[in-house]
Amino acid sequence: MTIEAKEETLGFQTEVKQLLHLMIHSLYSHPEVFLRELVSNASDAADKLRFATLHDSKLMEEDPELAIRITTDKEASLLTIEDNGIGMNRDEVIENLGTIARSGTAEFLQKLTGDQKKDSHLIGQFGVGFYSAFIVADKVIVETRKAGETGGVYWESEGTGEFIVKNTDNVQRGTKITLHLKKEHINFTDGWHLRSVVRKYSDHISLPVMMLKETHEAEDDKEQEKSQVIEWETINTAKALWTCSKSELKDEDYKEFYKHLSPDMSEPLKWSHNKVEGKLDYTSLLYIPSKAPFDMYNPEMQRGLKLYIQRVYIMDDAKQFLPMYLRFVKGVLDSNDLPLNISRELLQKNAQVNSLKSVITKRVLDMLDKMAKKEPENYQKFWEAFGQVMKEGPAEDFANREQAASLLRFSSTHTGEKTQNISLDAYIERMKPEQEKIYYLCAQSHSAVANSPHLEVFRKKGIEVLLMSDRIDEWLMSHMHEFKEKQFEDISKGTLDLGKLADTEDKEKKETVSKEKEALIKRIKETLKGRVEEVRVTDRLTESPACLVTGQHDLGEQMRQMLKAAGQEVPESHPIMEINPSHPLILRLEKEDSEHFDDLTRILFEQAQLANGKLPEDSGEYVQRMNKLLMELLSD
Ligand code: ADP
Ligand code: MG
Repeated sequence: MTIEAKEETLGFQTEVKQLLHLMIHSLYSHPEVFLRELVSNASDAADKLRFATLHDSKLMEEDPELAIRITTDKEASLLTIEDNGIGMNRDEVIENLGTIARSGTAEFLQKLTGDQKKDSHLIGQFGVGFYSAFIVADKVIVETRKAGETGGVYWESEGTGEFIVKNTDNVQRGTKITLHLKKEHINFTDGWHLRSVVRKYSDHISLPVMMLKETHEAEDDKEQEKSQVIEWETINTAKALWTCSKSELKDEDYKEFYKHLSPDMSEPLKWSHNKVEGKLDYTSLLYIPSKAPFDMYNPEMQRGLKLYIQRVYIMDDAKQFLPMYLRFVKGVLDSNDLPLNISRELLQKNAQVNSLKSVITKRVLDMLDKMAKKEPENYQKFWEAFGQVMKEGPAEDFANREQAASLLRFSSTHTGEKTQNISLDAYIERMKPEQEKIYYLCAQSHSAVANSPHLEVFRKKGIEVLLMSDRIDEWLMSHMHEFKEKQFEDISKGTLDLGKLADTEDKEKKETVSKEKEALIKRIKETLKGRVEEVRVTDRLTESPACLVTGQHDLGEQMRQMLKAAGQEVPESHPIMEINPSHPLILRLEKEDSEHFDDLTRILFEQAQLANGKLPEDSGEYVQRMNKLLMELLSD
């Protein structure tokens, strides 16, 4: 059997078909992005070959000068992009260019908005770059040969339902992509146009992008003949961006490079580029994205830095250099100390890696710190995208706990708004002179927390309280005991200790009132047996008749729900009910006969539950009791 005989026509997977349809029919507003995607794939292929050569030096031998070559044929409307990188074998071609290599495609299709501009930005974000060739071409041919193998592979498709794949000979190492350009995109055969697009999008990839020197029509015949000698020129800077000095680089360069590095098409919020020599010898270029990736909570999310060692590409997504809560950071780390033959397994054991992790983590935190101080508006954008993840920080990063905490933002009674824009430092600055603690309250929703009866005494005294309603907040606070020597206090737990903020007069009054109300408290306890742990006189309330408090060491509602959702058993615990002895409803309660007493007490209890954002166990009964009471009002 000859190798050529093995021709197959295969169908694209459903999602790929949809994607192709979309490329062809709707994403023509930024056609030039295809060039960045194909050049970026070629550059990855060169990186992969350099890496493979570390283990097998023969791979590079036949053609050691790595480059990307772009050629055009105006008459035939052809554009070719050729690299001499790692190449692909038949299985890889089918896998990478026919089926979905990543889970991203389906998600990409779900996210589409119909708005061309936004949608074309999504292409890169979901790692479906190769297919962007079909924005400008109605036929694409890929000829490729994997380094170290003899036979090549031919792939062809018109971007509709299927593709052809067959084995072929006489292919150079690497990949050549030929685009049959659509009429309306014939301008991509224009050398000057191509040069400007490549410079715009691919100036600082480390590989030279080469084109044939342009000949000028005005030149005489002799001159023309001379220029038949093929002369290539490099049209990009071809120097890995991070190896350049900062002064050589413009913001635009950094922004473009980010797009090569990360599938995210939006601009980064901030970056930090550093060369360090000394005990550790490395260059890092770290970016803070402006948008959260779609899979930030997926354990399989691509995270980590692109690792280079002495400028040789080693791997993508090297996770070891950043803690989990900074998993959104993108960038490059180029180390001069790590051994070139390092593997993912070895990375975990290497002592240098830990030192690098701590300096890189610090760099990211410092960058955020600076942004918070100097560019509060950008920081707010950052917080909206990544605040939830940053809240994992104090628990995970013991060494930087204080700094991670200072980067947190909350909402508070200072504004009462839902926007989280209050830092712990700002809170401390506004603390009353005699205030010792940082007060906070957690509930299931912002409106529940902002309208909680627990806040009444704080409002009266003008003390600020942090309002927390994110799912992660209670868990976060279980890891935060103090900040700048100020302890945190959950105002819905245990007995309220206002310390020096409490009036001695109030304290004494509470003691006498408690004695006076002993009988009432006993009656309430009887009625709510099995529902409350304790009943006592409050010093929290000024307007509401009653509220529910969690025991000092009991789990709050958020944590209970979180644990339950994770399938864990949560120990039973009952709240403490606090009553406001001067409230008219409580005064009235004292005088009620037993039937009314029971109903009213239950209603007070259930309303206190509602105020905490929790539904009464039997909401039907609650409604009945309420209606009974309302009917009595009507008949009065
Ligand atoms: P991504 O680059 O994000 O993985 P693409 O759609 O751009 O997604 O490419 C899909 C895959 O096809 C790549 O991951 C790579 O394995 C393979 N590929 C594409 N272009 C080349 C090339 N020039 N050389 C070798 N492999 C390539
Ligand atoms: Mg790609």
